[in-house]
Amino acid sequence: MESKVEHAVDQLKSGGIRMTPQRYAILHYLMESYSHPTADDIFRALSPQYPSLSVATVYNNLKLFVDAGLVRELTYGDDSSRFDADMSDHYHVTCTSCGTIVDIDHPPVMEVERTAAAMTGFSVLGHRLEIYGLCPTCKGMHS
Ligand SMILES: [Zn+2]
Ligand SMILES: [Zn+2]
Repeated sequence: MESKVEHAVDQLKSGGIRMTPQRYAILHYLMESYSHPTADDIFRALSPQYPSLSVATVYNNLKLFVDAGLVRELTYGDDSSRFDADMSDHYHVTCTSCGTIVDIDHPPVMEVERTAAAMTGFSVLGHRLEIYGLCPTCKGMHS
């Protein structure tokens, strides 16, 4: 996992982006996390170590990583965005009760893109597929 962070650091540096300890910490946290944290989650996790860190700093750095193509932003309507350092094609299952997001490994569903292109004449660039329900913990509480 360390090599993934180092690779990302190299990519940022070659894009002229200076690496600061806080920036590195945010990047590192995100790349080691599979929980798709929000800016708030990252801030809460890192603020004990970096007392001068602010949510705005976390957010600005996340935007910078997204622009650099290192991180993907997942937006869910009015809820704050979640961030995912796994740039591979994968789908998410979201718990509607607690907001947990779990990755699932499923081949991209290309038929829907082909159908959309054929039916509308669009040049289709991609699609979003959201799977939602109750996670095992929440399912237990609701039964
Ligand atoms: Zn849940
Ligand atoms: Zn993911």
